[in-house]
Amino acid sequence: MTDVSVAKEDAAPTDDLVVLKSVNKHFGALHVLQDIDLTITRGEVVVVIGPSGSGKSTLCRTINRLETIDAGTIAIDGKPLPQEGKALARLRADVGMVFQSFNLFAHKTVLENVMLGQIKVRKTDKKQAEEKARALLDRVGVATQADKYPAQLSGGQQQRVAIARALAMDPKVMLFDEPTSALDPEMINEVLEVMQQLARDGMTMIVVTHEMGFARSAANRVVFMADGRIVEEATPDQFFSNPRSDRAKDFLSKIL
Ligand code: ADP
Ligand code: MG
Repeated sequence: MTDVSVAKEDAAPTDDLVVLKSVNKHFGALHVLQDIDLTITRGEVVVVIGPSGSGKSTLCRTINRLETIDAGTIAIDGKPLPQEGKALARLRADVGMVFQSFNLFAHKTVLENVMLGQIKVRKTDKKQAEEKARALLDRVGVATQADKYPAQLSGGQQQRVAIARALAMDPKVMLFDEPTSALDPEMINEVLEVMQQLARDGMTMIVVTHEMGFARSAANRVVFMADGRIVEEATPDQFFSNPRSDRAKDFLSKIL
């Protein structure tokens, strides 16, 4: 794989790249995020795990403002998340997101998928955008698929294109929401390997996943959520060998 170095800011205003303070959110009567305090430092890989419905996806979606919050603050690289407008679009571009369902543009080629945001949001010229797209497709191992349409690719290949597309925006942090959950088992590893490499390259990552092997080998920290709260935070070693809360013990007994 060709190396495409991830753009770093010249001066780092803060090592705390993503800071959530007392974040609360409701869906009607449901208190889906309750007093979430979470700080992710530059280069850190945080794996978020927890039962279905505990608020993991909502947490990810608030961090790039796909969901509003009712109370609290979220800051990315020292800047509070704006509510709307151009400032929001710029800040959102700093937060790459990869979903369970790959969400590629079906009517665009793989190459166009990776070029589009660069041209529209980052205002990169077409030639440069194409060069970068090809290098990123090479980095995730799908360079030969550049001229195909998403439906012509396997799920694992599509998810790797989705990662390349997010990386093309030079995000400061990457959010992954169960990126391998929709994949056939034999394709899970090819996506996890790309994520492992990204982690080794120093990308700051928040990863919601049930892949405990990935959590053990790539995560600096595990955040365990239940019922809209962060119940426990620990290193992967501590968490898996010696979970403190009953909720975490119960959860681990079901999945391990
Ligand atoms: P997880 O990703 O941990 O499974 P989610 O963040 O998707 O959890 O959902 C947390 C809770 O919020 C669930 O009970 C879910 O049904 C509810 N929820 C999620 N999105 C919405 C929405 N747009 N409107 C109403 N309820 C929602
Ligand atoms: Mg979810």
